[in-house]
Amino acid sequence: MPTAPPTVPIGWDTVTLTVHNRPLTLPAEPVAPGLALVPSVTGTGWSGGYAVVHTASGKHIGPYSLPLAYARELAHLLGTGGDWTRPADQVRADATLRRHAVETLCDLGEARDFGLPLWWARPSWRRVPPPWLISNPTTGIPEHDDNSTWVADAWADVVALADRAIRDRWSPIADDATVRRADWPEWELVCAAPGCGQGRPGGAPAVLSDWADEIGDDRPLRSTKRAHLIAHARAEQWREHTNPHQGRHWLCPPCADDHPRDHN
Ligand SMILES: [Zn+2]
Repeated sequence: MPTAPPTVPIGWDTVTLTVHNRPLTLPAEPVAPGLALVPSVTGTGWSGGYAVVHTASGKHIGPYSLPLAYARELAHLLGTGGDWTRPADQVRADATLRRHAVETLCDLGEARDFGLPLWWARPSWRRVPPPWLISNPTTGIPEHDDNSTWVADAWADVVALADRAIRDRWSPIADDATVRRADWPEWELVCAAPGCGQGRPGGAPAVLSDWADEIGDDRPLRSTKRAHLIAHARAEQWREHTNPHQGRHWLCPPCADDHPRDHN
């Protein structure tokens, strides 16, 4: 099983299939060497799903109509099994590649039953260093949580805050403020789906964020207590999966939608 997210597909190709005894050329996303995704075509048009095809022959591999995330994962995983750039008869004659394809399609069926990705790309629990706490002993800040402490995730943020305090006489940081490191590292919760973050700038997977943050940005929610993050994740419609061998993983809401459960 691959543990790294697949590389983001680049560009478009075309693949010619035979549909109802007629050649049909479709736009195709190259996912792995020799394999591509095409929109699934029915007698009346697009099914709304996607299929994996062998580029050289235009033959389908696996289900005719899959959700996009599953189609990408399937093509990527099939691609790790051998050389798909050969003609169809050579691919068919390759016993190792055939076995890999059969096992991958079995894994796909099982994953779709439970709404799981075909593999977990990363652990969901990520340890982050303890934050910096900036305390104002003399001036409370009424609108702030505990009236006198600011939290910064990185030392660079502390320096930036101090620089601003010197220039800005309205700064809420007092002259006698003290800075110290919190005692414990914190946790954050990361989406474990292989395709999470693709298409977003930077491509980083989703991190459970603090919707109550008054700044309104996507600051990751961090806590020393995992139970706190779990309660927040459930409220935010993140979906959890527990496996006795692989532990507990989480999917962010878009990735949960991208991996619908076939069975309840
Ligand atoms: Zn996600």
